[in-house]
Amino acid sequence: MLRCKQVSEALASVNYWELPLRKRIGLRLHVFFCMVCGPFNRFIMQMQDTTRHYLSHEQSDTPSPDMCLPKEARQRIVDRIKHNPDQTASNL
Ligand SMILES: [Zn+2]
Repeated sequence: MLRCKQVSEALASVNYWELPLRKRIGLRLHVFFCMVCGPFNRFIMQMQDTTRHYLSHEQSDTPSPDMCLPKEARQRIVDRIKHNPDQTASNL
């Protein structure tokens, strides 16, 4: 069984999906059950998963549906910029 320090060092040094399957399973089990480092390291793993998801779509040039604004939202932004060109993006 891995210790908290080993899990944290592994997650800090490399993206966990690049680790061998056996090591990934060990990390996931530890993070799932550990009351000490679990919440923080689950967050780190989710961030790495999200990064991997976006990178995979960026490299394939096919935007993920969850990366795109709905057409209506895009049009609202365009209309707002056209009607208020002096406003900065922070005012939108
Ligand atoms: Zn732990």
